[in-house]
Amino acid sequence: MRISYDFIVAGAGSMGSATAYYLAKQGFRVLAIDQFDPPHDQGSHAGQSRIIRKAYFEHPDYVPLLHRSYELWKAFEEEIGERIYYETGIVYFGDASHPTLAGVRSSAKLYDVKLEVLDPQRSSVEFPEFNLPASFQTLVEPEAGFVRPEFAIGKYLTEAKRLGARLLVNERVLSWTSGPDGVSATTDKGVHYGGKLILTAGSWMKKLVSPLDRHLRVTRQTLAWVSPKDPDAFALGNFPCWFIEDPQLGMFYGFPILPYESFGGPIGLKIASHRPGETVDPDAVDRKTLAEEQQAIQTVLSKYFHDAGQEIITLKTCLYTYSPDENFIIDILPDTYKRVVVAAGFSGHGFKFVPVVGELLSQLATGKAPTLKTDFLGMSRLHCSD
Ligand SMILES: Cc1cc2nc3c(=O)[nH]c(=O)nc-3n(C[C@H](O)[C@H](O)[C@H](O)COP(=O)(O)OP(=O)(O)OC[C@H]3O[C@@H](n4cnc5c(N)ncnc54)[C@H](O)[C@@H]3O)c2cc1C
Repeated sequence: MRISYDFIVAGAGSMGSATAYYLAKQGFRVLAIDQFDPPHDQGSHAGQSRIIRKAYFEHPDYVPLLHRSYELWKAFEEEIGERIYYETGIVYFGDASHPTLAGVRSSAKLYDVKLEVLDPQRSSVEFPEFNLPASFQTLVEPEAGFVRPEFAIGKYLTEAKRLGARLLVNERVLSWTSGPDGVSATTDKGVHYGGKLILTAGSWMKKLVSPLDRHLRVTRQTLAWVSPKDPDAFALGNFPCWFIEDPQLGMFYGFPILPYESFGGPIGLKIASHRPGETVDPDAVDRKTLAEEQQAIQTVLSKYFHDAGQEIITLKTCLYTYSPDENFIIDILPDTYKRVVVAAGFSGHGFKFVPVVGELLSQLATGKAPTLKTDFLGMSRLHCSD
């Protein structure tokens, strides 16, 4: 086998771009391959903004990873001299006994994350744009906000290339092999040989890694941008990121209006549902929004806001890839001579972790022990051979 690269990264989106960067930074020969030209809007990273927070209701074991992620976002911002993280604060609204609010409180307590509980009166003074039932609890996490997905991916890839990585775009990995001497990745344009392979193919991981096939579910998620009458009240600097747990419709979340001059489009107040959408094949996604999806967004707007408007100006579709327990899958793939590392199943909450996942994948690929506890993300919990 003629080895040309130390590492081949298949999928150069969110996780792959950061992995290529961390490996290139260590001086390795890196090839990153993507079937599209990232950043793009066919996978899981489109839509201008992604929430980042530490009071993690999904699982408290993510909090140490988040501390590291914040450090690494900051270090990367300093390195490129540009801003990726915007600290708007996040406000969580819902029934105090709901698992989401209970999870936010318990992760914050366990890891000493700053969190405030507001009574209804203070909540209405501090967040006058919302119209909430008196029974709802308000939790405020000040050290939270959003990061910019497309911008960050573009920067990771630019930096990885500057550090010597090779990026091949519009080239699809069709299959791969792993043997005692190295790995190969066969694409629609040729065959590439490397020492190790990192598979970060997002919603296409089902198709590239057969043991994961039955464990991953890809869903179509809708994002909407609306036009409030008083945009200033909802503008960046005046309005936070937010989560609302509606008893019937589930979890919705949103962002402030971002200025077009520095963020580009879409313009407007962004709102989305976090409940699973329709299950889809990532190669055949119907991107037309369903009437009931629009209706649910409009119901949340009229139910929980005084004047956020009802007119949807932009709709976009993005893909979630669920693991069975909605925790990430990050591991060395068994029976590959320890030459293949997988990162999959980010279950709609992975972007905030991009730098720490990139660092972690580079540690696994280079044979170093991970510096943070990640057992809960391992493949053994899936019983792939059963
Ligand atoms: C609507 C929406 C809202 C979200 N909101 C948040 C949020 O607020 N906060 C948060 O933390 N996370 C959020 N997420 C989740 C987060 O964006 C994802 O977890 C993350 O982007 C997944 O990264 P990935 O690298 O797995 O996938 P992607 O970024 O999609 O990257 C996978 C890449 O692999 C490439 N690829 C696939 N197959 C092949 C192949 N065979 N050959 C070559 N290339 C291939 C694809 O083209 C793609 O570029 C959201 C996701 C969506 C869809």
